[in-house]
Amino acid sequence: MIMGYNFQAYAQQSVPRYTSYPTAPQFSDAVGADDYARWLEALDPAAPLSLYLHVPFCRELCWYCGCNMKLATKAAPISDYASRLIEEVRLVARHMPGRMKVSHLHWGGGTPTALEPDDLARVMEALREVYDVEPGAELAIESDPRTLSDAMIARIGALGFTRASFGVQEFDADVQAAINRIQPPEMVRRAVDGLRDAGVAGINFDLIYGLPLQTVETLTRTIDLCAEMAPDRIAIFGYAHVPWVAKKQKLIDESTLPDHDARVAQSKAAAEAITGAGYRPVGLDHFARPEDPLAQAAEAGTLRRNFQGYTTDDAATLIGMGTTSIGRTPSGYVQNIRETRTWDRVVSEGRLPVMKGVPITAEDAMRGRIIEELMCQGAVDPLTISRDHGIPGDWLADLGVTLAQMATDGLITRQGTRITMVPEARHLVRVVAALFDAYRADSPVRYSLAV
Ligand code: SF4
Repeated sequence: MIMGYNFQAYAQQSVPRYTSYPTAPQFSDAVGADDYARWLEALDPAAPLSLYLHVPFCRELCWYCGCNMKLATKAAPISDYASRLIEEVRLVARHMPGRMKVSHLHWGGGTPTALEPDDLARVMEALREVYDVEPGAELAIESDPRTLSDAMIARIGALGFTRASFGVQEFDADVQAAINRIQPPEMVRRAVDGLRDAGVAGINFDLIYGLPLQTVETLTRTIDLCAEMAPDRIAIFGYAHVPWVAKKQKLIDESTLPDHDARVAQSKAAAEAITGAGYRPVGLDHFARPEDPLAQAAEAGTLRRNFQGYTTDDAATLIGMGTTSIGRTPSGYVQNIRETRTWDRVVSEGRLPVMKGVPITAEDAMRGRIIEELMCQGAVDPLTISRDHGIPGDWLADLGVTLAQMATDGLITRQGTRITMVPEARHLVRVVAALFDAYRADSPVRYSLAV
């Protein structure tokens, strides 16, 4: 309890991360390849696209990992995967209403840098064959410093990538051993310096709190070391221990996990240390140097949220390619087949490899906009957004009692119909966002805790 506010009860609520709305548990196999084909054909040919390419392979296994990945020790399966990805790139492009522009491109995983440099170059070439990559487009790639070769660093630079992100997580050696991710600061520094020298201007670091053996002291030392390397953006996420979903996490000794109070203390100390190092808070869990476009978007109220978290990407359509990738069109979300062999076969047969999805109704679009604005700006006027979407605001009356309680508890303030997160309760924004989620009450899914 802080000053009589029951923050702890709110922090222990299990809530989605709201990187989409409807959220992934609403996806079903009622949506398939034919729906996706129609949704693609209905796109505005003049509107820019955002692309996401997924590589499900890693060269090393981290025990905290909740991603869809496979351990690959040989190059051949990864190279075969790249060849099939090229087929998917061409297949999806054939369903477009014309030759489209690309404003953002993001390689994620897994570990995209597990590809051989030539394979990365082949896929990038295929993309440029079917799309016009806009001058100034952001080309981003996630990278693992433990396995990033000099040849790959040089190729990433030569291919024109503008941003690279690293899962730094924590620099303490005991914590790294407890999560099986050994990467001393010098290893990360080498990768960062190499990419900067190769011309990659933007560097992102991801950190995690709530890891086994982690303390406020290990985390603040980590942030000091990070600040010395001066990444442009830092994101920090709470470790979600969900071994019933992420089987790798069974390797983590649960008795070494920080308890709830320690997690809250770590989250708070990390935010203070990062802002103390000169970074501006962006949304719930991101920070950026004041001159970085993400910090500027947060200040200008143009920040957006998608599957990669907070972004400056305002494209209405995100095309996901590769196993398990999620895409969004104005008509709905789709997710690709998870299992690599099935994805491979379906693409080889010339079919869009959609596993499931969900259409976006007019009400979903309205609720999604409210949730996104709250997550991005920490404030929203739901009535205005509802009316802007042509939906009368009567439905908001049902939320009145809960919103009044949240105001009494010090989570939000209310001016007319506008609600604003209290700065001290900013970390609980997902709990407030969940009020506007029409599906949550019906969902049997267990999400991670709010903190
Ligand atoms: S955390 Fe990243 S590098 Fe580690 S296993 Fe998961 S996807 Fe691979």
